[in-house]
Amino acid sequence: MTSAAHLSVRARRTGLTVLIGAALLAPAACTSAAPTASPTTSAASSSTSTADPTGQSGLPEGGLTIPGIEVAQSVNNDPALPISIGRPIVPGQAALTDAMKTWADAKETAFRGDYLPSPESAPELNITWQVAMANGSILGVRLHDREFAGASGQSTNQVFYGDAATGTVKQAVDLITAGKVDALAKLVWDGAAKLAAPIEAAAPTGSAAARLLTDLVFAPDGTLTAYLDQGSVAAYSAGNLTVTVTGPQVTPLLSDFGRAVQAAVASGAPYAVPATVPAAPSTPAEPVQPVQPAQPAQPAQPAQPNPGAVDCSTLKCVALTFDDGPGAYTGKLLDSLAASGTKVTFFVLGQNVKIRPDIVARAVAAGHVVANHTWDHRDMKKLSATEQATEVSSAGDAIRNATGVTTTLLRPPYGSFNESVRGLGQAIIMWDVDTLDWKYRDSAEVTRRALADVKPGSIILMHDIHATSVDAVPGLVSALAQRGYTLVTVPQLLGSTKAGSVYYSRSRAG
Ligand SMILES: [Zn+2]
Repeated sequence: MTSAAHLSVRARRTGLTVLIGAALLAPAACTSAAPTASPTTSAASSSTSTADPTGQSGLPEGGLTIPGIEVAQSVNNDPALPISIGRPIVPGQAALTDAMKTWADAKETAFRGDYLPSPESAPELNITWQVAMANGSILGVRLHDREFAGASGQSTNQVFYGDAATGTVKQAVDLITAGKVDALAKLVWDGAAKLAAPIEAAAPTGSAAARLLTDLVFAPDGTLTAYLDQGSVAAYSAGNLTVTVTGPQVTPLLSDFGRAVQAAVASGAPYAVPATVPAAPSTPAEPVQPVQPAQPAQPAQPAQPNPGAVDCSTLKCVALTFDDGPGAYTGKLLDSLAASGTKVTFFVLGQNVKIRPDIVARAVAAGHVVANHTWDHRDMKKLSATEQATEVSSAGDAIRNATGVTTTLLRPPYGSFNESVRGLGQAIIMWDVDTLDWKYRDSAEVTRRALADVKPGSIILMHDIHATSVDAVPGLVSALAQRGYTLVTVPQLLGSTKAGSVYYSRSRAG
């Protein structure tokens, strides 16, 4: 993108912000979502529209941070069928958490039904999420589903709203009263049609209208923004289209729930879970948690502690590594590692670090090493060089913000990388012992596989997003010690590493 184009995008971004008020959605990034079409400024028109011609993101950048949210991260590490699903576990909002799990599970089931594993052209499913709004007792979460097969990809969003005061959970379309969905679909369709030629002559009705309105978010001034799936109104090449409908136009169409969400956003009140939470039996009530603004940089911790004086040229060293966190079990793992005095290496996802910076800071403070596993677990070979660089730099930034540590160790998701990944200034850290813990979900099997394949200098691959893997650690640590192994971090095992080199173990690198 030229700098001139950048300037015009910036101008547009400012204009968009003014139009929709202090938007809860941060404007899309220049690199992934550059609106090009002009907004409608005529006084007669009451909707405005923007287009994302690249359509690579499909997800507005940003999102709020809510203290206490845990990440449920699930990864199928089969490189022939890469699947990564991240979704939130929301304290005090069991119904919301369950609804999002049901949605993500259904996406995975459908995907597995549609595609077979293919080593040559692996179909990929990647689901991520962000907080879309959080005011009063209402939390809105956007789930973002991306599916890739062959050369084509498609993405869809679904925004869920949960009211912690009542235990109610709704999808975006439920903001609209049942008889008015067609009316909003027509407004949105007509707004989008000003940006790109629509694929159908008329706006959809009935269930097709509902399918158009899966990502609806209010601004504080009462306007409603519809974020449209690529290909839903215009050709796929037109990108993601965004239509904003003014408050006076949308308010008569709203359901009671929709009006409650609109009012909550307008109030600007911080999000707070009521002290007594009805209809949330499976989640313990959480203390009231005010919304924080976007995660600020944590106070800088001391730089990554120097690798201790361990001589792996004479000792039988082995490095335990844990991918895909931090997650719901990482704290328990840190407890058990502290009990045995074991130091390990975590390859973390940037988007999970953003949610749980505290636990990553705790890991570093305890002497563990935290390194880069990209932002959101995409198969790097499917991405452009620019996207690859963003995956790594944004995760590196999240780690630095949380811990003060700058990492130069990268483990590409699924172990999938190419020459341009090697050019990102990171040492590529693979493994020589794969516990297949994601597949068997059995502590005894994890331990058996690790002990069967371990050699002096080994790097053992595990995932701290599985309870069974975390449960295996105390036994595995003592079994390795009994066999004369010294457990070390990856920097202790490898010593100094070279950017662009690939390490499978202490003795196997290239
Ligand atoms: Zn992974």
